[in-house]
Amino acid sequence: MTLSRSLLSLACLMSAASAMSQDKVLNIYSARHYPTDEVMYSDFTKATGIQINRVDADDAGILARLKAEGAASPADVILLVDAARLWRAEVDGLFLPIKSAKLEEAIPANLRSKPSDNGGTAWFGLSTRARVIVYNKLKYNKTDVDSYEKLADAKFKGGLCIRSGSHPYNLSLFGAMTEHLGPQKTEAWLKGLVGNMARSPKGGDTDQIKGVASGECGVAVSNSYYLARLMRSTNPADRAVTEKIGVVFPNQNSWGTHMNVAGGAVARHAKNTDNAVKFLEYLASPAAQNHFANGNNEWPAAKGVSFDNPALKAMTGGSFKSEVLPISAVGMNQIKVQQMLDRVGFK
Ligand code: FE
Repeated sequence: MTLSRSLLSLACLMSAASAMSQDKVLNIYSARHYPTDEVMYSDFTKATGIQINRVDADDAGILARLKAEGAASPADVILLVDAARLWRAEVDGLFLPIKSAKLEEAIPANLRSKPSDNGGTAWFGLSTRARVIVYNKLKYNKTDVDSYEKLADAKFKGGLCIRSGSHPYNLSLFGAMTEHLGPQKTEAWLKGLVGNMARSPKGGDTDQIKGVASGECGVAVSNSYYLARLMRSTNPADRAVTEKIGVVFPNQNSWGTHMNVAGGAVARHAKNTDNAVKFLEYLASPAAQNHFANGNNEWPAAKGVSFDNPALKAMTGGSFKSEVLPISAVGMNQIKVQQMLDRVGFK
């Protein structure tokens, strides 16, 4: 089934379900691609009696769908896994700004959108992940790759593996680099990355990590949770992969490691607004925040949530410096970055 057809039929199911029990239903469009999230959805239903219908698609697919559906959209809650996409959707008016004392209390101001004209908040960050560098321990040391800038060093010629430049995780990283270095230096850096590639970009972040373990790549870029997932896997082959590689949280001596935000919002044309707010408040609760950390190896966005994830602890050694940038700045750089990628031939 094609994506759009499956979305369409799910949307039909959703409106049917919605008509049946207007008050006990919640329609979610989600770009979170993690089976471990299922527990959160079922816990919410158990606690509230609210049935969840979910459409899963990637960030771009969800935004396109919302635009096409307009006021007829059945979506109540939108979950996206990239800050720049959250920003884009806000700018495009796809979110309904809400007021929630619980959410405002839990989520720090730098991890949610600026207040809108009516004082509401368009979206809330719910978890974060770090964009880290992994390297072949036999060939390189930590200091060889302790900054994103060093990925363009000539010593990595023929050795860099990275997923598509146009993937939201990379667009956000490159958008942040543009803020730090300026467009000219960023484009030169991107050109350096292309010159160092071991292969044309393919696969997801886990494939890049495995490429380092197999020896095809000397160095690669990945989100932290993919690495933690391998470290905690019950499959010995996955754990063997992580034993062959080193991990660096880059730019500890400068602006800090790039963080990506996953978050949620109420849809502009939500029909079950109260349930939608209730669900976002639940996702910011200590129980759900703990699940983001222990189930999907992300860092909680909410303040003061304690969690115990051995992989995250082992990876970071406890703490690290993370980048602090206005998400709007990263978002606004996206078009500029895509043009740079086209010019330097970063597929
Ligand atoms: Fe992902």
